[in-house]
Amino acid sequence: MSDEPLFDRLAVIGSGLIGSSILRAARQQGIVRAMVATARSAATRQRLLELGLADEVADNNAAAARGADLVIICVPVGQSGPVTQEIAVDLAPGAILSDVGSVKNSVLTAMAPHVPAGVHLIPAHPVAGTEHSGPDAGFAELFVNRWCILTPPPDADETAVARLAAFWRALGANVDTMSAEHHDLVLAVTSHLPHLIAYTIVGTADDLQEITRSEVLKFSAGGFRDFTRIAASDPTMWRDVFLANKDAVLEILGRFNEDVATLTRAIRRGDGDTLFDMFTRTRAIRRGIVDIGQDSAAADFGRAHAALPLAPVPRPYSADSE
Ligand code: NAP
Repeated sequence: MSDEPLFDRLAVIGSGLIGSSILRAARQQGIVRAMVATARSAATRQRLLELGLADEVADNNAAAARGADLVIICVPVGQSGPVTQEIAVDLAPGAILSDVGSVKNSVLTAMAPHVPAGVHLIPAHPVAGTEHSGPDAGFAELFVNRWCILTPPPDADETAVARLAAFWRALGANVDTMSAEHHDLVLAVTSHLPHLIAYTIVGTADDLQEITRSEVLKFSAGGFRDFTRIAASDPTMWRDVFLANKDAVLEILGRFNEDVATLTRAIRRGDGDTLFDMFTRTRAIRRGIVDIGQDSAAADFGRAHAALPLAPVPRPYSADSE
């Protein structure tokens, strides 16, 4: 890659976990000449100033977009359309307008009508995140070795797509391209349904009358703890994801319910073969994810465990009395 920055002026609109991680990584990699950021509330904009993540913090979305050759909208997906409308007249001819939303088809439909001729709309989704929100939660390495999926409309300018792909690669991501519809179906399986299951199972545990909340917390086994992490994800973001990806999620949820019914019947009938076959198949998927470097093979997902106390544990009998 040449030493020339990829873009002159990057505008990040919405500077939470994802937006602030883009700012941090872009600065660290030196791939833009200048960066401007903004957020909806004065409190977050103030925090951006304190963190010094951008060269400028704009008071509003339109001011942030003005003069930028790359504008990335990093807000909950329900806001993508209204934000595009707000900034439309300030988008520079030839600029690339992108986003990071976890749903693509409805975002494309909501944004496209507001985009002026000569501006390249290329939606994107970095498949990377944590359950934390806000500008303090971001970090420069978030996208390293993760996938960023671009969903350019069929008539998108190839040079603009290549420039955006180069930007994400410079942040450490692998880049893939697919249609918005296909993206939404894939992510319904790999991300949206798991979140729905996590929200459900943690809610179910909380609703149980016979088991107290303190028992749920105290005896939380590894599996349940992993669900609680996912179920701690931002409620606004995930409300918007399910509303925006309704069709694909309902399609996958239907299939999931059929599979749950199969396992329910197997348990009721004592059909161990069906359970064993299913669990063998799923184990291979986990191994595949580890093999391609998308997760750690370390036990308990690489979580550090507390050390044993330094003092020797008293034996049940004393050596002196032996
Ligand atoms: P976040 O940490 O909650 O940040 C959202 C940001 O958007 C905040 O700075 C918020 O400002 C700002 N915002 C909201 N409405 C706005 C508006 N109308 N105008 C300007 N700024 C506005 O959320 P996030 O996790 O970064 O998620 C952002 C996007 O990334 C979502 O579309 C999500 O689907 C996608 N995504 C998330 C993940 C993940 O794991 N979190 C992963 C991949 C993609 P205030 O702080 O002032 O409210």
